[in-house]
Amino acid sequence: MSKSVHGGFLESVSRNFDKAAPHSGLHKGLLAQIKACNSVYQMRFPVKIGSEYQVIEAYRVQHSHHRLPTKGGIRYSQKVNQEEVMALASLMTYKCAIVDVPFGGAKGGVAISPRDYTVSQLQKITRRYTTELIRKNFIGPGIDVPAPDYGTGSREMAWILDTYITFKGGEIDAAGCVTGKPVNQNGIQGRTEATGRGVYYGIREACSHKDDMAALGLKPGLEGKTMAIQGLGNVGYHAGVISQEEGGVKIIAVAEYEGAVYNKDGIDIKKLFKHRKKTGSILDFPGAKNMKQRKRVLEVDCDILVPAALEGQITKVNADKVKAKIIAEAANGPVTADAEEILLKKGVMVIPDMYINAGGVTVSYFEWLKNLSHMRFGRMEKRFNANKYRNLVETVERMTGKTIGAKEKDFLTKGADEVDLVRSGLEETMITAYDQIRTNFKRNKGINDLRSAAFVSALKKIGSDYESLGIFP
Ligand code: NAD
Repeated sequence: MSKSVHGGFLESVSRNFDKAAPHSGLHKGLLAQIKACNSVYQMRFPVKIGSEYQVIEAYRVQHSHHRLPTKGGIRYSQKVNQEEVMALASLMTYKCAIVDVPFGGAKGGVAISPRDYTVSQLQKITRRYTTELIRKNFIGPGIDVPAPDYGTGSREMAWILDTYITFKGGEIDAAGCVTGKPVNQNGIQGRTEATGRGVYYGIREACSHKDDMAALGLKPGLEGKTMAIQGLGNVGYHAGVISQEEGGVKIIAVAEYEGAVYNKDGIDIKKLFKHRKKTGSILDFPGAKNMKQRKRVLEVDCDILVPAALEGQITKVNADKVKAKIIAEAANGPVTADAEEILLKKGVMVIPDMYINAGGVTVSYFEWLKNLSHMRFGRMEKRFNANKYRNLVETVERMTGKTIGAKEKDFLTKGADEVDLVRSGLEETMITAYDQIRTNFKRNKGINDLRSAAFVSALKKIGSDYESLGIFP
């Protein structure tokens, strides 16, 4: 049976859409088409767990077919329900448009808590779910391409690919039916960290504008800024580690399922992660204090708050208690529409989910392209470039009669590996998209928040796709 209905999330997405839509300049009928979820597939299937049969509730929603394939992660969580998956699928459409990924939006969900199952039981459920998708033509490299989300990772994606190939043997592009796969299973270097790395690039961009930072009472740049993170999973962990190591950010509070820890002098995220692995909990981390309630992490006095767990975390109940100056929505929908109104009045900068967590789908797009090309990125040009750079450096050495050190020479003459190209493509994507959003924000007097500006960026691109088809005026 359907679990708790999370009506608030879909309603928030809808309210945010309606707020931004008048600034897009699009026809009312076209806006209605863009907003609607095109296909909702709700399924129930039996899986034998131990000696019992369990009926599993699951979904796949394709929000928009204006570009194909559709794309979006698969969530495993007890709270999965139709409205949640519809909200997440809608966000995927806007997200893809914002970062110029030529896909429609989709999302999947299986209403289970992975903690309650063994690995082989999870494999059974994943394979059965994939079979249902194949049966209804809801998966395929040109149809709909899933990826990891909350509660799933590269392991599940490998099972999905294997199941797909079992049914579709001989399909030349089969590997592109799912992304986020292990690297040795047709995955791509840099996908696991991609969403977190994108969060880092996005925050770095937002913090690079002197006047925007001055309005928040902050200096430009990331160095020394304080951060609190909710959720140390795939997104939260990588966003934390990269912000710390590459941005010089000081992470002062972290919350996980079992509780939260605080240290005003900073918490080493890699060490905290190891501590959790060893002890089963982030609590009692040396040098840090345990916080009384995990939710209090959202109220910590810091520059940047990164909610990286689930939707509906900052609501009208606690929005007033938030002290962060910037909220980077690493999770999808962590700030409700009601809460955002309160936060904006307080002058908080909310960097919206559909931009800040788009690094995952961006690198998934690169992975899909790699699968279709059947070749890793960099294979053709790496040595060619390395040789060219070496010739150039040696020519300069000959002409000047000076030589440079071996280490410096290696750095200057290196050809790009796949991971270098992936990171470069991701960085370029996040910078360009932020620039477009900020331009909408600054140029349009009616828009007073980054989320509406991001929506307008997406709506204009999707609208122009439809307009070029001549369907709408
Ligand atoms: P994950 O399952 O890897 O990690 C989520 C973590 O949050 C888990 O460790 C969980 O224990 C923790 N958590 C759950 N409830 C919590 C709470 N109340 N307080 C503190 N911690 C809590 O999931 P993920 O892939 O990192 O996804 C997190 C969010 O990011 C989701 O909203 C997801 O939709 C979004 N997202 C993920 C990706 C991706 O590539 N994985 C891409 C874009 C957006």
